[in-house]
Amino acid sequence: MSSAPVFRNESVRVKEYQTSGAMIVICPYCDAEAKLVSGDVVFPHRPDLKNKHFYRCEPCSARVGCHPGTTTPMGSLASKELRYQRSLAHLALDALWKRNYMTRQEAYLWLAQEFGASTHIGQSDEATCRKIRQLANEYRRKADEC
Ligand SMILES: [Zn+2]
Repeated sequence: MSSAPVFRNESVRVKEYQTSGAMIVICPYCDAEAKLVSGDVVFPHRPDLKNKHFYRCEPCSARVGCHPGTTTPMGSLASKELRYQRSLAHLALDALWKRNYMTRQEAYLWLAQEFGASTHIGQSDEATCRKIRQLANEYRRKADEC
């Protein structure tokens, strides 16, 4: 048997890989198995996203996008609220380097120093996302005072 890629992450609750090409992704909210769907299923009005893959939980609509050109999820399935909190955390972190407070690499080092080396916004829960946003904004405020 060839070794298939396995996306292992406790918070994602991904089980073993299945041979069809999709991974088994279990919804953290309702324990249903998420389905691999193309972008036009998730975003019917966005033909530009047709070739993107998503895992989506049908009972509760939690979802996660896949890394470009793959069926590997970028993080754990997220509810609408969690997706919103993750996007805000990304914006706050990105502002640190897009507004030249530090380089992009330094911003991710800063995140690792503050939250631990294995921290990824795409894996984070709502509380962690709020904390990332709060600390990133505090960093900017302090930097502005100098
Ligand atoms: Zn669900």
